[in-house]
Amino acid sequence: MHVPPAEIRPRLEIAAQAPVPTRFGIFQMAVFHWGGGSQWDDQDAGYGLSPDHVALIMGEVRGRSGVTVRVHSECLTSEVFGSLKCDCRDQLEAAQEEIARKGHGVLLYLRQEGRGIGLANKIRAYQLQSRGLDTVDANRLLGLPDDARDYDAAAAMLDHLGVLSIRLMTNNPRKAQALSALGVAVDCQVPVVVGVNPHSAPYLETKRLRMGHSLPSGGEPLVVLADNFQAGTDAE
Ligand SMILES: [Zn+2]
Repeated sequence: MHVPPAEIRPRLEIAAQAPVPTRFGIFQMAVFHWGGGSQWDDQDAGYGLSPDHVALIMGEVRGRSGVTVRVHSECLTSEVFGSLKCDCRDQLEAAQEEIARKGHGVLLYLRQEGRGIGLANKIRAYQLQSRGLDTVDANRLLGLPDDARDYDAAAAMLDHLGVLSIRLMTNNPRKAQALSALGVAVDCQVPVVVGVNPHSAPYLETKRLRMGHSLPSGGEPLVVLADNFQAGTDAE
């Protein structure tokens, strides 16, 4: 994998690393500080974002091809508070479970809350959604992009970790395209299988219809399987 070193590497520092036991096994947790910034850093919209990203690493990944990788963006509401409005927590846990099952892989946890618009804007959008707008229209009414995430830090982190190519766990073809454009060798895209609940079904349907995600229609339970991938079907 080739990431232009002059453009990216000087912007990435590894700040700390230690093993962390989790419900899914022991991961090496590396904290990276990303100095590359984003378009939101100096604006109110940036509240709730952080330049300190995390890699959870299991097994030896340096110099390996076909490493199972999840590039996951922070979602405080579901991951900390158990919000049922989205499937982020389920996808995060499914990724950890899959990496642990394989015995090696990398979870990159990017601190770009609310698809990159920040926590306050995300909750503003929820307020509009409570009046019937979908996630895309709510963002637009607030003058915000549908998806403000970027993956420069993720590409630099994978380069730093010496990963040669990845099996990307995602339902979002645009994420695979964005990483490829940054020089990450994406061997294949592996669906992330999670359940649906009555609160998350409208959001998942919007992601399918308006954001190009590879999901079944009509809020049906997701049954896409690949490579013996197993995940819980309970939607929390
Ligand atoms: Zn979420």
